[in-house]
Parts: sequence; C-alpha cells; structure tokens
Amino acid sequence: MSETIFTKIINKTIPADILFEDDQVLAFKDISPQAPVHFLVIPKKPIATINDIQSDDDALIGYMYRVAANICADLGVAQQGFRTVMNCNPDGGQTVYHIHLHVLAGKPLGWPPY
Ligand code: C5P
Repeated sequence: MSETIFTKIINKTIPADILFEDDQVLAFKDISPQAPVHFLVIPKKPIATINDIQSDDDALIGYMYRVAANICADLGVAQQGFRTVMNCNPDGGQTVYHIHLHVLAGKPLGWPPY
C-alpha cells in the first residue's frame, strides 16, 4: 500500500491536533470539521479500505470504536450523542486510503447524510 498523508501524521512529519495516541491508534481533529466536534480515529497499521480488513484486525477495529467513545466522553458529548462514519472507496466518499473512523458531534446531525 502506498503511503498516505495519515502515515505522515502518524510519523509526525506533518502536524495534527492529536487527541489520543497509543501503540495501536491515533485520534486527531479533522482539518476540515463538518460538525462542532469532528475527529478521526485511525489505526497505526495502514489498512487501505474496509475491504482490506483481515480477521487479524477485528480487535483493532473494535478498539477504534472504544477509543472514539472514550474521547467523546472526555469531550462531554457522549451522552448527547455522536455519529461514527467510515467511508469506503469512491462512492462511499473515501479520499484518504488509510481507514479512518470519522466521529461527529456537538449538534443534532441530519439523516440521511446527503
Ligand atoms: O472519508 P474521507 O477519506 O473523505 O476523509 C478524509 C478526511 O481526512 C477528511 O475529512 C479530511 O478533512 C481529513 N484530513 C485531515 N487532515 C489532513 C488531511 C485530511 O483531517 N491532513
């Protein structure tokens, strides 16, 4: 898989507003927020799309959701609610081919999202 901008963020060669980091994941504020709270949770392991997730990754993907919820709790938006989205490929709106969980909160979010 070719390197994406998220690898550069993981390697700290470009800056990001980091909310959480450990050996498995990184969470940072989206540079172009679509809600009052909008951050991304990414695995440090580069996985291009949801279609590339392997069974070995199952725990990692679950952990990404738990990190998302923990950050929402820290930010005080967990009880009011939030939305998680992982876009896949062009029709899904994916632009960066390193999977990332969008987490949006801070206002009532419309549905459907178009
Ligand atoms: O789901 P999609 O691939 O379109 O989302 C990529 C997201 O990465 C966008 O919301 C974009 O604003 C964000 N991004 C970022 N920091 C960068 C480059 C992209 O937060 N340096």
